[in-house]
This record gives sequence, C-alpha cells and structure tokens, in this order.
Amino acid sequence: MRAVMIDAVRSQPEVRDVPQPSAPVGGVVVRVMATGMCRSDWHAWAGHDDIAFPHVPGHELAGVVAEVGPDVTRWQVGDRVTVPFVCGCGRCEWCRSGNAQVCPDQEQPGFTHWGSFAEHVALHAADTNLVALPAAIDFATAASLGCRFATAFRALVGRARVAEGEWVTVVGAGGVGLSAVMIARAVGARVVAVDRNPEALAVAADLGAEHTLLADGRDVPAAVGRLTDGGSHVAVDAVGSEQTCADAILSLRRRGRLAQVGLLPPVEGHPRVPMARVIAWELDLLGSHGMSAADYPPMMELIRSGALQPQRLVERTIGLEEAAALLPGFDGATVAGMTIIDPTR
Ligand SMILES: [Zn+2]
Ligand SMILES: [Zn+2]
Repeated sequence: MRAVMIDAVRSQPEVRDVPQPSAPVGGVVVRVMATGMCRSDWHAWAGHDDIAFPHVPGHELAGVVAEVGPDVTRWQVGDRVTVPFVCGCGRCEWCRSGNAQVCPDQEQPGFTHWGSFAEHVALHAADTNLVALPAAIDFATAASLGCRFATAFRALVGRARVAEGEWVTVVGAGGVGLSAVMIARAVGARVVAVDRNPEALAVAADLGAEHTLLADGRDVPAAVGRLTDGGSHVAVDAVGSEQTCADAILSLRRRGRLAQVGLLPPVEGHPRVPMARVIAWELDLLGSHGMSAADYPPMMELIRSGALQPQRLVERTIGLEEAAALLPGFDGATVAGMTIIDPTR
C-alpha cells in the first residue's frame, strides 16, 4: 500500500510502497477513505512523542472495514466506520465504564503504531472503539470528528458542562477552537474567540462567535472581562502554550471552568499556571483527552440533525504526496479550518 513514511525525527516525509497491516486479535484493518492532518501529527514528526521510526502518522480517520481479526463480534468487512484517536484496550475498568479516552493501555494510530496517512490502517479493540458511520455522514466529515471535533465536544459538553446563555472564551481558532465555537453556539452559549490570525477570527465570526479578539500583544483577559462583564463562565485553551493557558484561565469569571485541550508538550518545560487566581476565584481546571466511542451517539445525532455541521470546518482536501510535503511546516500553517487527506487520490 502507499503510505506517508517518516524515517527519522524531522526528516522529510515521503510517500512509499510499504506492506499492508494485518488485523490484530480483536482488531480490524480499515481502508482509509479520508484522514485529517493535525498539529499532533507535526508533534510526532518533530520528535515530541515517544515514537518508533520509521513511522506513518495520522490519527483522524474514516473508512471501510477491509479485514476483521479474531474475536471481533460487532463489525464486518464493508462497514463504514470512524474511530476516536484514543483506542482503549476494551478490558480495563475505564474502558468498561465508557471512558476509553483515559485507558492506561490505549493505542493511538499514528503514535503507538502506524497511522492513517496510508491506504490502510490497523485499529485495536474494534468492539470498544469503532463508531458506525450513518450513510448521511460522508468520510471527510467523519474524519474531521475523531480528534479535534470530538475533543471540543467532550471538553465543552462532557467536561465543562457549558449551559445556554453562558459566555465561552475560545483561545485559538484552529481546528479544535473552531469546533468549540460551533459546539458552544449549538448549545446556546455566547462566544469570544481569540487568535493571532485575523483570517481564523473571521471564520470564527462566521461560525457564530459574538466577539473576536486579535491576540496582538494586548491584554486578552482584560478585554474578555470588558466584553463579558467580569469574565467568561467557561474558557477553552485550544492552543496549548503557557501564554494561551494563562490567558484562558485569567479570562474566567469567579467560579469559572477551564477546559484544557491544547497539548503542552513537556519538551517546552512545565508551564507556569496562575494558581493563585485558581484558588482565590475557585476556578475548575478540567483536562480533556479526546472522547470515547461510547460518548459519540449524542454528537452523531446533532450532526445527523444538522445542528452541528463539522463539514463547514473542512478547508481543503489533498492527496498523500501533498500531505508529505506539507507536514514539516504544519506548525506554522495559517489555514483556517481542517486539512483532509484523501489517500485514494
Ligand atoms: Zn488530531
Ligand atoms: Zn482500557
């Protein structure tokens, strides 16, 4: 099969013919029809994760089951499926309680094994992790869900429990941030979007952000405080840096909730977090790590009904060759919205 191969940390990725994976016990092989490119793929390329090279990145995917391994009961060849980026083991107490997103024995395609920037990908514990794709949802839309959209959904709905009429500050208007804007609006919350890129802010406004703030060195928390009469009820750091994490926390009103979604890779050192404010104002800091397949049904129903339209976040679709060329510069990409790869091109 054709796949985007990375031979070593920070080497130029290349499209190459490699052996097709076979289905593990309890798992399947999926023929990839669409796969999203995300900053996490760039982190993997840059050596920020513990990854064995040579490596195939890619963890946001949708496709068709091509091979079913032993001990799989729920899936058959030909099923249209997607999958969260965290695949739980299916056996531990967290998986059995529907929280595979924190499974201690989790697999992540594109990190713990070869991922979906390829014509085929192996997925583990299929009965726990696969999500059936309704005919009404196309592959590119589904691929946009597995990482950033589902993460934003869980952060706002499952973790921060955002309510109608509340203010939500979204720091970072990339894939996950724009998803958060759309989801916050769908539940009736009011949004302040913050980003360094005016184009990303224009998209956030299109998606229903009531206010946009250009992070051009200004005091973001003070500006949010003025716009929301004392700070937002919920803030999402969708970037993952010391600055954006602090801005999100300091933008909260008293007793507000932070959903930390942006990854803070340890290579950059542990971030300084304004804990004095967290204590004095009784702020809740909520980590959010993807979303398990068990929590997909309410989100899929909102997509099927049209209340959520993740396809609006798909900015462009490219082939494997373009993906290989693009990956090393992806941390600096200024594309507003999501880049989807079609490996069948
Ligand atoms: Zn991702
Ligand atoms: Zn588990």
